[in-house]
Amino acid sequence: MTTTTTTAGEQAARDRDLVARYGSPLYVYDLDRVARARADLRAALPDGVTLYYSLKANPHPGLVRALREGPGGCRAEVCSTGELASALEAGHRAESILYSGPGKTAGELAVALAEGVRTFSVESAGDLRRLGAQAVRQGVVAQVLLRVNSAAAAATTSIRMTGTPSQFGIDAETLPGLLPALLDVPGTAVAGAHFFPLSNSKDEESLIAEFTATIEQAANLQSELGLPLRMLDIGGGFAAPYSVPGERPVYPNLRAALEKTLDTRLPRWREGGVEIACESGRHLVGDSGRLLTSVTNVKESRGRTFAILDAGINTLGGMAGLGRLLPLSVDPAFHRTGEPVPVSLAGPLCTPGDLLSRSVRMPPPEPGDVLAVPNTGAYGPTASLLLFLGRPAPVELLLSGGEVVSASRLVTTRTEVV
Ligand SMILES: *Cc1c(COP(=O)(O)O)cnc(C)c1O
Repeated sequence: MTTTTTTAGEQAARDRDLVARYGSPLYVYDLDRVARARADLRAALPDGVTLYYSLKANPHPGLVRALREGPGGCRAEVCSTGELASALEAGHRAESILYSGPGKTAGELAVALAEGVRTFSVESAGDLRRLGAQAVRQGVVAQVLLRVNSAAAAATTSIRMTGTPSQFGIDAETLPGLLPALLDVPGTAVAGAHFFPLSNSKDEESLIAEFTATIEQAANLQSELGLPLRMLDIGGGFAAPYSVPGERPVYPNLRAALEKTLDTRLPRWREGGVEIACESGRHLVGDSGRLLTSVTNVKESRGRTFAILDAGINTLGGMAGLGRLLPLSVDPAFHRTGEPVPVSLAGPLCTPGDLLSRSVRMPPPEPGDVLAVPNTGAYGPTASLLLFLGRPAPVELLLSGGEVVSASRLVTTRTEVV
């Protein structure tokens, strides 16, 4: 692993060189940083915990492979046949993959089972029956985690998914009535529970509170309702900065807190009597990525400076471009010198919605300038409006030891359906 420090000026020169070679806009993912994120998260979790990488954050097969390989490797959590294909391409064995999502169709379940996937998170009784029917047709048994929508939630977060009416999971309070039927669906065997109450937890305290509440609840479901619990997926919520400068958070107290709660409530976890799993997307890959984008035009309009970039919501739509502005900032290393002025950063699309930032303070930009948006390794191209207005997808580079080891771009084509 490289530990050399790079000055801002060196970084800027290197990034300009990459843009000259591979074009713009350009995503650059550093696999050494991915390895570091995985090692740090592993160290923050008790030994023996199964760690899933959620492909939703970035399904690039090279990145998925890097997360799989070596000691502390992650398994894959997928939500579609496309993500499944990426996981398989990255060398994951189908039997080790967790398939989840609220809208699994009979068709995709059939594909997943035929590929050899055997573990599914199910989000409703209907979802479970649909899975069972496909498993019976293929003469197999699917292991099932029941995704539970907690009755109450512990932490505060930016994205909340449970505790309220939700398309995700089975409402906890309905489980006493539902469970006997759920345990009796042909083609399926309930192996445990899946919780995913929050994303991007605001701090370690919230994360610990949420995990503690989840473990308590699972233990209660087991002891009070007889819910089978060979596996418990406690979800995630590990945070990462997104398109703004900043460091990936560390969780120095998490490991001890989890061990304490598990020892108290699910003591069999130490002998593997209940496999504990968790999931992470953004925390594992977010800080590995930078988006390099070029200024194609600069114009003044009624007192405001607009820099038109070659990257817009088609490139970095993320969870942000759709109706809300990114709190985006660009790396100061890329700014020319000069007194900072407020600049609106617009993308190339013919819609007023293609504004990445209404006002960034930077020295006056000029066409040809290369800007870097930090911390964009998660929820980049595949979370963007890639097809809107028909521009090519950005090239995505993988770096290892500072060298380019892969350069590729996604291509979509129309094919006739008969
Ligand atoms: C989105 C999602 C994840 C990944 O979320 P991050 O915030 O990127 O870690 C994991 N599990 C489930 C069920 C999800 O929906």
